[in-house]
Amino acid sequence: MLGVIINLLYPALCRACSKKINEFDRNICADCAKKIKERLPPFCLRCGRQFKGESELKAICADCKDETPYFDQAWSACHYEGALKSLIHDFKYKKITALSKDFADLIINFMKKYDIGKDSRIILSVPMHPGRLFRREVNHADILARAIGKDLGISYSGNALKKIKDTPPQSKLKREARMKNLRSSFSLKNSRIFRGKDILLVDDLFTTGSTVNECSRLLKDSGAGRIDVITLARGDNA
Ligand SMILES: [Zn+2]
Ligand SMILES: [Zn+2]
Repeated sequence: MLGVIINLLYPALCRACSKKINEFDRNICADCAKKIKERLPPFCLRCGRQFKGESELKAICADCKDETPYFDQAWSACHYEGALKSLIHDFKYKKITALSKDFADLIINFMKKYDIGKDSRIILSVPMHPGRLFRREVNHADILARAIGKDLGISYSGNALKKIKDTPPQSKLKREARMKNLRSSFSLKNSRIFRGKDILLVDDLFTTGSTVNECSRLLKDSGAGRIDVITLARGDNA
């Protein structure tokens, strides 16, 4: 109630178009929210790549056939383009963490639609190297994972996975170099808590998938059950 009154007196402005927002606890107006494009199936049953044709329904893409990922399935809620792309940029680089509620809701709605993570017992996010975290101040994937876990009642175990080596950005490297770049850059504490448990691994963007794959490799080595990867957005050609 108090929030509603505050919103009437001091309406929030949409982070994308600067128009006044009538609803409480929102940072993106209804018009801009409509412009955020949800990704639609058919998806690759492993990496979640969006197929163009119906004929490929229930299929696995060539990359996944060539090299099976360690995670069981990756999902990504929205297309990484337009208004969402600049909002994610603000979220990450201008530290506008208020957007986390709007972003977490986009992910949660998508998860409910496809029944994702209904058996997941532990939620964790892709960690940031402490040096990078110090410069950026927040790990956005971590904020999303906490919000999703809270909403869906999945226990959060973010501190178990650590980034121990600061690696150059993955997007600038070729496939093989990416895996090499990541090798031994993560470590898993309390690995026994993952044994036999289904895991939900959260990140903000899905680019090449090699980071979540390396995290999944460690988790599977510790006896984790099914691993679903969920990200907010993914580029069309990724
Ligand atoms: Zn707007
Ligand atoms: Zn695939």
